[in-house]
Amino acid sequence: PSALEANFIQNIINDDFSTNKYNGRVHTRFPPEPNGYLHIGHAKSICLNFGIAARNGGITNLRFDDTNPAKEEVEYVDSIKADVRWLGFDWDDRMFYASDYFDQLYDYAVQLIKAGKAYVCDLSAEEIKEYRGTLTEPGKESPYRDRSVEENLDLFERMRAGEFPDGSRVLRAKIDMASPNLNMRDPVLYRILRATHHRTGDKWLIYPMYDYAHPISDSLERITHSICTLEFEDHRPLYDWTLDTLGIYHSQQIEFARLNLTYTVMSKRKLRMLVEEGFVSGWDDPRMPTISGLRRRGYTPESIRDFCDRIGVAKSNSMVDIAMLEHCIREDLNSSVPRVMGVLRPLKVVIDNYPEGRVEELEAEYNPENPGLGSRKLPFSRELYIEQEDFMENPPKKFFRLAPGQEVRLKNAYIIRCESVVKDEKSGEALEVHCTYDPETKSGSAASSRKVKGTLHWVSAGHAMPAEVRLYDHLFLKENPDEEKDFRACVNPDSLMKLTSCMLERSLSGAAPGSRYQFLRNGFFCVDTVDSTKTKPVFNRIVSLKDTWAK
Ligand code: ATP
Ligand code: MG
Ligand code: MG
Repeated sequence: PSALEANFIQNIINDDFSTNKYNGRVHTRFPPEPNGYLHIGHAKSICLNFGIAARNGGITNLRFDDTNPAKEEVEYVDSIKADVRWLGFDWDDRMFYASDYFDQLYDYAVQLIKAGKAYVCDLSAEEIKEYRGTLTEPGKESPYRDRSVEENLDLFERMRAGEFPDGSRVLRAKIDMASPNLNMRDPVLYRILRATHHRTGDKWLIYPMYDYAHPISDSLERITHSICTLEFEDHRPLYDWTLDTLGIYHSQQIEFARLNLTYTVMSKRKLRMLVEEGFVSGWDDPRMPTISGLRRRGYTPESIRDFCDRIGVAKSNSMVDIAMLEHCIREDLNSSVPRVMGVLRPLKVVIDNYPEGRVEELEAEYNPENPGLGSRKLPFSRELYIEQEDFMENPPKKFFRLAPGQEVRLKNAYIIRCESVVKDEKSGEALEVHCTYDPETKSGSAASSRKVKGTLHWVSAGHAMPAEVRLYDHLFLKENPDEEKDFRACVNPDSLMKLTSCMLERSLSGAAPGSRYQFLRNGFFCVDTVDSTKTKPVFNRIVSLKDTWAK
């Protein structure tokens, strides 16, 4: 079994099957708050929730945890749905909103008040914090703690009716101000907030807190296993208290370690800052760890699912090397996409002994590891482009590329030999390299067995398609930007390089936005879905060919 299948959550489910705890049911949910775009950490949660349910014959709800109207928007709801679907998961008709439960949540709060388990408190937010105490010091009881049920019911109703200003009163659970768990020291259940909600509009002036709304939402949906991240471990007693005190269906909260990736940040709040402060072009900037950013960069859903599967599910937090994510997309694309030739920084090569005006159409297989991809014709002519870095006038030893007097093979074509170089008089920069070709050495021909050390990619100058290519580096210079005083201070100023005069082989003209290729020796690329035009395509480098992941 993969790491994911053998995880501790599966063990819990197996136990629950054996004790018949949920009558053999497995029902999970993915509960995003629609306050930003999903990131790769959410992908892990999606794969886990949908994956574990599917493997156990269960089902999964998509639930928008929309109890905080100030930060939530419809745009985010739409993007979340699109991202979950793109990853390959389907909630069928099980899409819910926590805001659908506002009436029930209110009724349950009234029930708690009637049972003497909740009270209206007039302390300010600051005072509540002060009274709460610390880990080493017990809390102090609120002077409003012993209000009568009647007074609490009246005040809570008037909170709802809009009689009090924002922040002036809250509804609190009456639990234990001396509890060693700070979350149990009379946590706030409801606050007054005048904010327009993206679904309920101005109907509500009070909103439930996450710790109150979440267990009840799980319960109403008959969720069996409510999987969340480790920082909620300390909240579990409150989760259980809420359901037990109300005496309603009891879902089970299970915590796992959140995914952290090197050289990136993974909180919506921080990602939003990058967007709003212009460090990136948007939530879908190809450098972003968002699902939309990864999609635009050229990542496949399969590679992300594979990644989530490989990292498995742990009970303690750790940092995953981003090189592992890159490894997964290389593995996916290596044999699945065409291998073509694109020159990123062109240098003109003239084959002096090749007849002017002649064009040969050379047969070239797309991917030797996947014959099913077929082949294309590559035009070869007297004038070509190679990479600037594949030529040196005064090369060091072991430079097996082009240099005066040296031979190289042009991929799928001929062996050429460099005869001379035309240079810019002032800068000394090579402008044009003159070569001769050996007609006996055509690739695939009987006499092509002559060996030279280097093979270069190239394109025919008269047939090439100009394009822009964007190369990416890590968005941050530090492995763990969260450790910095201000994570923005270590944004990598060189994380995007735009090469605007690239020359690509003819077969790429008309390449569909979103289509993926390997450019020989240069990496894997994807046609940008936003900035490409018919006349000027833009290619994003998904990842280079060099795998740096140490297994
Ligand atoms: P953020 O801090 O990025 O806003 P969040 O946990 O507040 O994250 P939610 O929208 O509440 O974001 O998350 C929905 C689900 O995704 C939750 O169950 C949450 O635990 C899970 N999740 C969020 N980030 C990660 C992560 N880095 N790794 C694994 N799961 C995550
Ligand atoms: Mg959250
Ligand atoms: Mg958050």
